[in-house]
Amino acid sequence: MTYSQMSREQLEALYSELLAEYGDIKSQGLSLDLSRGKPGKEQLDLMTDMLTCISDASDCFSENGTDCRNYGVLDGIPEAKRLFSELLGIPQKNIFIGGNSSLNLMYDSIARAMLYGVCDSERPWCKEEKIRFICPAPGYDRHFAICESFGIEMITVKMTETGPDMDEVERIAGSDGAVKGIWCCPKYSNPDGYTYSDETVRRLASMKTAAPDFRIFWDNAYAVHELYDESGDTLADIFAECDAAGNGDRPFYFASTSKISFPGAGVAIFAASENNLAQIKPILTVQTIGHDKINQIRHVKYFGNAENVRRHMQKLAGVLRPKFEIVEKTLTEALDGTGAAVWTKPRGGYFVSLFTMEGCAKRTYALCHEAGVVLTNVGATYPYGRDEADSNIRIAPSFPSNGDLEAAMRVLVVCIRIAVIEKLLNK
Ligand code: PLP
Repeated sequence: MTYSQMSREQLEALYSELLAEYGDIKSQGLSLDLSRGKPGKEQLDLMTDMLTCISDASDCFSENGTDCRNYGVLDGIPEAKRLFSELLGIPQKNIFIGGNSSLNLMYDSIARAMLYGVCDSERPWCKEEKIRFICPAPGYDRHFAICESFGIEMITVKMTETGPDMDEVERIAGSDGAVKGIWCCPKYSNPDGYTYSDETVRRLASMKTAAPDFRIFWDNAYAVHELYDESGDTLADIFAECDAAGNGDRPFYFASTSKISFPGAGVAIFAASENNLAQIKPILTVQTIGHDKINQIRHVKYFGNAENVRRHMQKLAGVLRPKFEIVEKTLTEALDGTGAAVWTKPRGGYFVSLFTMEGCAKRTYALCHEAGVVLTNVGATYPYGRDEADSNIRIAPSFPSNGDLEAAMRVLVVCIRIAVIEKLLNK
């Protein structure tokens, strides 16, 4: 029986039980965190050898003789490009190796478009009366924050199991010339863990856009982050699809090793068509003489090839999988069949997305907070922090120890049940 089907008396009885349990939880003085989408220590420890794989000056020479300790090589050493090319299936000529953060490359790509336009713009985007972006939601709050900081108006489009609602995306992009882009986290999306279907990728690549200089911001942050086996979900090749549709300049592709090696000390890449790179590189030449090539060569020496990266991801999955299983088990045991919430069951990535009964997420957050469990801010997964349904909660299981995660999840499910019953009882 779902909670909505229960009588008032039944709900009152359950509510008293849950309040008693909640009182016990509060008295424990917990301090737990389900909000941080970063690797735990156990995962980072699996990378320890990378800290010593460069130990001598002789380790710092690229295959073409470049001394990685010195200035130069704007777009990255060839062996690093080759590694990413093999791993992500992108031709080397389209790859630009950046610094440690793909988010930084995304921010810079928007800033550059605002200041200079993109290769097929009539004028810099900041000279347009209005710039709008399509924002599939729930999505990654930092994408939305970039738009907000540049005054780019965000249009929310619903995420589905196969990607953004493409009828809406096509309608919006096709009818409004101010719409210059879309944010996509196409594989194991943040926070739902959904992977775009082939049809979604094809439609994004081939749709008519009112803006001639429309860009897909393809943030493939979880490209190789499988939880269950090496093959995992498959994602169609955005470059091939765009080329086939005659829109080769449309994708701006981003990825990094933040959640492969070290977040904050990994290697990030940007990939785009040769037309795009020809416009961008002269601007980047003014911005920097080159990124950290010692870190690039360190990654190449440590991993060697794409196959070894995949093997390493399986080791990380060995740490992450039990955490996702704790989340799934706790939610199923406490909430299955209650109608209080539904949640995603990702096969990769870093998050589980939970949807409480409408109008119950903020209350759940407040109850958790009072009991010492920090959740991602409710609304953070939507443009302008506005989750109109007050429903989505992003669960990040990677950072806490398994014991802390179990404890935090037990608190979360009690809080969800209380919030939902309060709603049904109009408390
Ligand atoms: N993109 C998405 C979708 C993310 O979830 C994250 C981190 O959580 C990032 C980008 C950040 O990437 P980076 O560390 O390369 O800046």
